[in-house]
Amino acid sequence: MKESGAISIHTENVMPIIKKWLYHERDIFIRELVSNAADALQKLEKISLVEDIKTETKEARIDINIDKPKKTITITDTGVGMTADEMKRYINQVAFSGVKDFVEKFEGKDDQDQIIGHFGLGFYSAFMVSECVEIDSLSYQDGAEAAHWQSTGDGQYEMAPSERKEVGTTITLHINEASADVLDVARLKQVVAKYCGFMKYDVYLQDELVSDTRPLWTQNASQLKDDDYKTFFQKVFPTAGEPLFWIHLNVDYPFKLRGILYFPKLAHELEASEGEVKLFCNQVYVEDNCKELIPEYLTLLKGVIDCPDLPLNVSRSALQVDAKVRKISQHITKKVADKLSSMYKTKREDYEKYWEDINPFVKYAMMRDSEFFDRMKEYVIYKSTDDSFVTIPEYLEKYKDQTEEKVLYVSDPHSQANFVKMIKSEGLEAIVANRVLDQHFLPYLEMQSGAKYKFQRIDADLSKMFVDSDKGSEIAGVDGKTNSEKIIDIFTKYLKDKELKVEVEALKNEHTPAVLIIDENMRRLKEMSRSGQMGAFAPNLMQSMKLVVNRENTAVKNLVSMSAISGKDQDLTMIVQQIYDLASLQQGQFDPKDMADFIERSTNLLSKLGTGSSIHV
Ligand code: ADP
Ligand code: MG
Repeated sequence: MKESGAISIHTENVMPIIKKWLYHERDIFIRELVSNAADALQKLEKISLVEDIKTETKEARIDINIDKPKKTITITDTGVGMTADEMKRYINQVAFSGVKDFVEKFEGKDDQDQIIGHFGLGFYSAFMVSECVEIDSLSYQDGAEAAHWQSTGDGQYEMAPSERKEVGTTITLHINEASADVLDVARLKQVVAKYCGFMKYDVYLQDELVSDTRPLWTQNASQLKDDDYKTFFQKVFPTAGEPLFWIHLNVDYPFKLRGILYFPKLAHELEASEGEVKLFCNQVYVEDNCKELIPEYLTLLKGVIDCPDLPLNVSRSALQVDAKVRKISQHITKKVADKLSSMYKTKREDYEKYWEDINPFVKYAMMRDSEFFDRMKEYVIYKSTDDSFVTIPEYLEKYKDQTEEKVLYVSDPHSQANFVKMIKSEGLEAIVANRVLDQHFLPYLEMQSGAKYKFQRIDADLSKMFVDSDKGSEIAGVDGKTNSEKIIDIFTKYLKDKELKVEVEALKNEHTPAVLIIDENMRRLKEMSRSGQMGAFAPNLMQSMKLVVNRENTAVKNLVSMSAISGKDQDLTMIVQQIYDLASLQQGQFDPKDMADFIERSTNLLSKLGTGSSIHV
């Protein structure tokens, strides 16, 4: 007996809207139909546990077949099947009411970025690629009759008895002109691998098995070897290289969660942003880097998360307010922090070895999440200029007599090498904070510590320890001026930069003619303005710099005697500028023009040395 009728909602409005997003996520029809097939298999499995099923059922499997000449794709399962009555109830009413919600929510909105994929249209998504969809089904129920359903998606359906003999369901998609490319086997294989590659049931495409039904995250961690994790990583992230280490998540209560999060090896710092965490729902792929579930900073990691408790077809807004989602997200964060802290405590060597790679992630995550900050704050380590690793408390404790709650750091160990030498001779070390992120992270740590300590770049202040206090005060010469006063006069007169403040000290290290000091706070402001965080306000760095000239240095002493002789202006200019350049070289403040001048002047000085002429006094 044939029957036809109208589907209970106004689907004539639906197709144009759905088609608007067709090319965005059209391929999810595969995910929806295959996961319906998997649901049907699971239902049959559960029923067979409690009921004695009289009808003969087949081994659980899902078959996807393409018939290019006929322009069809069929998805067949050996699951529970549907009776005609069930088709009316579940397909005509329920399935299409999901579409109704969808339309009501999103009609007229323009930023539909990926909506279909997140919303999940269920069965109806078949119409995204089909001009006509057929269902043939035989229910497992004793005495059930096979039923046929068909619709063009225009709101009308037709139903009739079916010839089907086996329990299960076949969905036949008559692919429309515009979607002809989905009939390409190689292409469909990729789509199936993406969404259904880890399905619980065997999935065959053109008779070839394409699913791994027991992906690593579903297995027992205690029975897995490092190589298993590495191989799996390779399979899911073929271009990513080797992972450093990983976390196997396994929660049953108060929600179910499985997953593996890998810490990837970073080739360079910026690459960190290219991580991805794949979200699965019951082994069906949902999406990458789901913002609501996985804190954004965790997506610096790579891995898979499976949350079977989340329905596939939920809207983003529903996810955002879901308390469970928040708990899951917090749990993941906690597990990551636990893994790191336990490694710190029990395998500090490993921790130090991995630190170079993981520190951008840790620092970033700490700045983004106060809970993560609290869990990790004791496990932040820095390499010190003596090549060992220290935590900030360790550093403060070790040097508390010398540095007074200050943590000295270098941002560039090479250009600041002379300063490092100076503090080393005083038995001090500095931490190496040479990551871009440190510019933000150090001030953040200070703030979080409640200003208990302060970071100070090694060249930000010429602390007492560099100054030789034994040298005492100077006596004025016959002209009524001390050497220091003369040095200041010389530098003010001959230095190109008139704004620069000049001071004179007797430094312990007599080989250093001068050092350039930049106030820590001003430099930070400058760095911030450079990275665009300060808007138009850019402090004048010149005003916060000072050149400290060492009156114990021979070259500086020579300047004083030279200045007493007339006609030496040119040489004096050259030497003063050279001393200044040497000092600013250590600050990394050189632009290309300065560098060219510096090299030319150095060459000049060398050639003068050779003739033994005017430079000699
Ligand atoms: P959902 O899967 O979220 O329930 P769908 O629109 O995907 O929504 O499917 C609607 C209903 O149609 C399902 O709940 C199920 O009862 C029925 N159904 C769909 N596909 C199958 C199938 N392959 N076998 C048995 N029942 C199915
Ligand atoms: Mg479904």
